[in-house]
Amino acid sequence: MESSDRYLRQTSLTEIGAAGQERLRDSTVLVAGCGALGSNSAEIIARAGVGKIILVDSDTVEMGNLQRQGLLREADIGEHKAEAVGRALQGINSEIEIDFKVERIAADNIERLLAGVDLVLDGFDNMPSRYLLNDACVKHGVPWIFAAVAGTFGMTMPIIPHRTACLRCLSPDPVPDEFVLTAGNSGLINTIPRAIVSLQATLALKILLGALDVPATLTTYDIWQNEFTSLEIKQGNDCPCCVRSEYPFLEGTSP
Ligand SMILES: [Zn+2]
Repeated sequence: MESSDRYLRQTSLTEIGAAGQERLRDSTVLVAGCGALGSNSAEIIARAGVGKIILVDSDTVEMGNLQRQGLLREADIGEHKAEAVGRALQGINSEIEIDFKVERIAADNIERLLAGVDLVLDGFDNMPSRYLLNDACVKHGVPWIFAAVAGTFGMTMPIIPHRTACLRCLSPDPVPDEFVLTAGNSGLINTIPRAIVSLQATLALKILLGALDVPATLTTYDIWQNEFTSLEIKQGNDCPCCVRSEYPFLEGTSP
């Protein structure tokens, strides 16, 4: 098959077209975490032809990951997730650039990792990392797509700095993990990450294609109950992050 046939279903889509496909080819997306969310969202954007994908994760593949984490195989156990996912993506699409970094995203490397990045896909499994990402993305004006899953439930929200609400407009400070539902304390059905990353990656593609007017809504989905909710989140008048430009999670001064 001709290389030009690869994206035929997208270039014939009025929402994308040939010009949009070129725009995706010229885009760089950072996938923050290669777990249940990141491995699946990375596959979608690689198949869609996002030109450069940077995978960041410090974990190694374990047997217990295979239930829900896309692209991983038994043969990958013991390897770094970022490397295993990166290799799988390159096998899916050899025409794009895949970069993987075996690093734990933290205050001392996140700004370096964001250099040249057009958008970040949240693939984290904890809220403190998302507040760090929110600080860094708002400070540098990089859109990111919040996503979280636990049990049979998930949620996603686009965050375009200074155009939409940010994570701290939604909740000023992270709720401690012991008070929230997490995959670690409540389990995870393997269909919800794929449902949520389908929403998350669609938002990412729209923003990469220039749609900065995406609705600033928090979408939640319980896949067991088949219940969707969509809640408009307004930018806080006095948000410490996106209004007052305070970045305590990035600067290590959060309480
Ligand atoms: Zn805000």
